[in-house]
Amino acid sequence: MGFEEARRRLVEYLRAAGFLRSERVARALLRVPRELFVPPEYRSLAYEDRPLPIGYGQTVSAPSVVARMTELLDPRPGERVLEVGTGSGYQAAVLAELVAPSDWPPEGWGHVWSIERIPGLAERARRNLEAAGYAGRVTVVVGDGSRGYPPAAPYDAIIVTAAAPQVPPPLVEQLKPGGRLVAPVGDRWAQRLVVLRKGPGGRVEVEEDIEVLFVPLVGEYGWEA
Ligand code: SAH
Repeated sequence: MGFEEARRRLVEYLRAAGFLRSERVARALLRVPRELFVPPEYRSLAYEDRPLPIGYGQTVSAPSVVARMTELLDPRPGERVLEVGTGSGYQAAVLAELVAPSDWPPEGWGHVWSIERIPGLAERARRNLEAAGYAGRVTVVVGDGSRGYPPAAPYDAIIVTAAAPQVPPPLVEQLKPGGRLVAPVGDRWAQRLVVLRKGPGGRVEVEEDIEVLFVPLVGEYGWEA
């Protein structure tokens, strides 16, 4: 079975299992070649619904978790999105496919900023994104994303893909009124997805979603290394 067929089957499975409901997110998952974001030795497992090691003790999330978080975030064409925890760059590519769809004119494209604390991973993610055709739609920066990324703020949507003890306050500040934030919040060994919405007047509402397990967010508003 080729990668394309494996990708189609994975998306079918994610739909049947209830992880995937939106047609837009399904289309994005069908377009992003996950095999280009995992280390060569794991390529044959790229379309299994499981997290995979990406080096430096970090992992790329399982496709079902990427699907669920992306649906909760609901990125729209033209929007500005921040991802905290670039890792392999796969989630950033899925976000780019939604804010800057491949079949849209670049004038209408939004943009993804993704911040990673480990320089070696950021470099690898840049190369993965380039190879998959997303270099112009995603900017990878190195730093402590628990403080957000002020130079490109404010954002329509912010996604945190590392486990946080709390929603980092700078991220809420860097969200536009009407913006959404999705983050795994809890202790080191179990978290729950939190969906935060900032109303037009700046009022914040928080909802909880499924239980998840992420590597820790390490930084000023995260955990100590
Ligand atoms: N979204 C990624 C997977 C993220 S794994 C993907 O699609 O592959 C979590 C990542 O968050 C790791 O690479 C880890 O180094 C990074 N990370 C942890 N704390 C961070 C922080 N404070 N700022 C930026 N990145 C952080």
